[in-house]
Amino acid sequence: MHPEQGSPYDVIIIGAGFAGLYGVHRAARAGLRVLGLEAGESVGGTWFWNRYPGARCDVESVDYSYSFDEDLQQSWTWTERFAAQPEILSYIDHVADRFDLKQRYRFGQRVTAAHFDDSTSTWTLGTEAGDEYRSRFVVFATGCLSAPIKPNLPGVETFAGEELFTAQWPEEGVPMTGKRVGVIGTGSSGIQVSPIIAREARELTVFQRSPNFSVPVPNRPWTEADQQEIRATYRQRREKSYYAPAATPHAGLQTKAVELSAAEREEAMEDRWNGGGVLFNKVFPDQNSDLTANEFVRDFAVAKIRAKIDDQTVADDLIPTDHPIGTKRICTDSGYYEMFNRPNVSLVNLRREAIEEVTPTGVRTANRFIELDTLVYATGFDAMTGALLRIDIRGAQDARLGDTWADGPVTYLGFGIPGFPNMFSINSVGTPSVMANMVLHSEQQLDWVLALVEHCRAQGIQRAEVHAEAAEKWTDHLMEVAEGTLFVKANSWYMGANVEGKKRVFMPYIGGFGNYRRYCDEERDGGYPNFELTA
Ligand code: NAP
Repeated sequence: MHPEQGSPYDVIIIGAGFAGLYGVHRAARAGLRVLGLEAGESVGGTWFWNRYPGARCDVESVDYSYSFDEDLQQSWTWTERFAAQPEILSYIDHVADRFDLKQRYRFGQRVTAAHFDDSTSTWTLGTEAGDEYRSRFVVFATGCLSAPIKPNLPGVETFAGEELFTAQWPEEGVPMTGKRVGVIGTGSSGIQVSPIIAREARELTVFQRSPNFSVPVPNRPWTEADQQEIRATYRQRREKSYYAPAATPHAGLQTKAVELSAAEREEAMEDRWNGGGVLFNKVFPDQNSDLTANEFVRDFAVAKIRAKIDDQTVADDLIPTDHPIGTKRICTDSGYYEMFNRPNVSLVNLRREAIEEVTPTGVRTANRFIELDTLVYATGFDAMTGALLRIDIRGAQDARLGDTWADGPVTYLGFGIPGFPNMFSINSVGTPSVMANMVLHSEQQLDWVLALVEHCRAQGIQRAEVHAEAAEKWTDHLMEVAEGTLFVKANSWYMGANVEGKKRVFMPYIGGFGNYRRYCDEERDGGYPNFELTA
């Protein structure tokens, strides 16, 4: 290790995505001695790594952007209603330059170890490059979907063709013309990348283990009139979002599906389907808690999907039957189902014919051998806990986070973990995060954590640690809220079900961003009653 000289930082923030970047800005503005560490070579986080063609956000661009600076908000122009990855990345880069944040970061520094020293109440962080940094507080803004998984298929290492991951797509892009391409995975990433590949490739084979529901993204350029309207009403838009269930200004219907007439339901669903994005998950207030209401939405979606597909036996394979609609993340696509009408695209249903092995030249299933030049893995992430647990984190008395969370993750409001003083996790288990607009969520998270850090500095507090009972209570509450919904019925990544051996618990807080934010406000305004603050 090469320890950095000098006194410890007040706070080190790991990650240069939306959350980390705002945190570094916010901390610097507050006069804290702050350092950012980032594994990538530049800013962007999720949007730095996930450069696959077709990558596009499922939240409207004008909402999925920072609100902390009115000049920034008024001066940036989003070109499209749902922004694509290059535009989001250039926005983040612009923000980093505008607030001069890159100079506060060390890039290419993947943190591999974080150890707390009881005697000095400081953290020492070690990186893959062999460097070492010390800090009073540490903030893990390491992302919810940032630990990609490569499936453990027989022969997977033998493939001699081109191997690509949606989560680590080469920056320079990859030509697909004339190639025989296989895509493994039909979640949001696979569903977005496949139609683009299909347009170029000689043949595309989609390997599907579980189908997902997808809603078409009704993308369009913002017009000049839209731009003016957005600028004039931005503040109100944000005011509506700050305590809204999903941190966007869009409110769902208040009337339960079961209380509406068939015609009213149809109209509401048509409206939300056309609205696009993840909003279709929130047409009715009872849609995610009542199976009858959920069935209305499901039947509507199924009819829409069937209408796009020529061969109804293919449609049978593409329509999920194993989970209530929305209990796995609804995907958003541009021509996914229609793609299966192309002569160069075929679907392999792995439930009928599992992959037996990957060979140097392709994939062998139970029924056939498919020759491939390129194999794309869109196989998901060890969500929410993966990025933290891949780091050797040790808290007070050398306790390992992996051991502490052996029976499932326990946090208080997502931020605090008992036994891990002066450490905060952001957008973590126990927060609405992935259920909400991540950008406003990230602002809320960093504002809260850094207010606590500032409080400690002002009061001469050296050690802040959440009470174990508070974390247990919050974790029980989390599960209790989830159990009142249909979400617990799906084998989703929300439940940790996509990772072998991972404890099955519902990880996000499903009680809504506004409610969550009120809990956080109460804790802060009450002087942090659930934390042990030691001078
Ligand atoms: P994902 O939803 O977890 O999908 C992974 C896919 O890979 C699933 O279809 C999974 O099948 C399949 N898979 C995994 N291991 C496999 C194996 N051994 N053999 C065959 N198939 C295998 O991951 P993702 O698509 O990257 O999306 C993750 C999340 O990122 C999304 O839910 C969303 O929150 C976010 N995201 C958002 C956008 C957007 O804003 N539009 C775009 C991309 C990602 P099983 O289901 O059977 O496990």
